[in-house]
Amino acid sequence: MPAPYIGRFAPSPTGPLHAGSLVAALASWLDARAHGGRWLVRIEDIDPPRCSPGADQQILRQLADCGLLPDETPVWQSARHALYRAALDRLSDRGLAYGCACTRKDIEQALLAAGIQRTRHHAAVYPGTCRAGLNGRAARAWRVRSDLALGQGGGVVNWRDRALGPQSQDVPQEVGDFVLLRADGLWAYQLAVVVDDAEQGVSDVVRGADLCDNTARQILLQQALGLPTPRYLHTPLVLDARGEKLSKQHGAPAIDTSSPERALAALRQAAAVLDLPAIDGAPTEPPGRALASWTRAWQAIQSR
Ligand SMILES: [Zn+2]
Repeated sequence: MPAPYIGRFAPSPTGPLHAGSLVAALASWLDARAHGGRWLVRIEDIDPPRCSPGADQQILRQLADCGLLPDETPVWQSARHALYRAALDRLSDRGLAYGCACTRKDIEQALLAAGIQRTRHHAAVYPGTCRAGLNGRAARAWRVRSDLALGQGGGVVNWRDRALGPQSQDVPQEVGDFVLLRADGLWAYQLAVVVDDAEQGVSDVVRGADLCDNTARQILLQQALGLPTPRYLHTPLVLDARGEKLSKQHGAPAIDTSSPERALAALRQAAAVLDLPAIDGAPTEPPGRALASWTRAWQAIQSR
């Protein structure tokens, strides 16, 4: 019997919802409804310096204004450190994670010494200096053994996106031994997401295409931890006038949900990005009827 459908929307509370994050929220909500499943909200606040005070409550209020109500009480990642610690311990016990003492400068020097040119738009692939041990140096961060995490299978992760089709990434080659616990003591996004998705029984991840590139790393961690891999669907991004992804950093304005008609207007925009049909009818009504009709449209699109 297939696992029950559980979806989630997992915003970082760096600011209120904007037009781009609403697309991901709406898509994940519609997908859960279309599958007769449950929809969870998880506040990804593991990086306190990036979080904006009160943004979590604002996001939950905006979602509620749009009629997107979670089926369970939301969880906050900041309250879940023990789960991430247990996962790191498990990896380390299996020889799949190790302490790394390198500073950024150490890594640059090691790459230089090995004659590895760093391409301008890609982060440096960690050269694996500390795989063999710390030689008395203190661990600053913890990294995954990307070459061993998949067992005999090497490091290539093949997966299928429900919208984008087959995907593949050679994690050791293209990403390297990525960080699980950062030198500043904060948990890396990849580890927290994988632990939470499994712990919450998430069967389907529906999120913005900007996160697509993380999927292979997350699947690698799932396999290293013996956790199931959810299905993935990445939704189109909303671009600004300069062709850049809408983001808090680039000053994307918050969606206005101060009245039912404004919330519906924001939802209509998000629905258009998802290629859902325009809903006619009075612009003053609450979002419920529009959501029901988009759910039917989503169901039809997904069963094609
Ligand atoms: Zn190191």
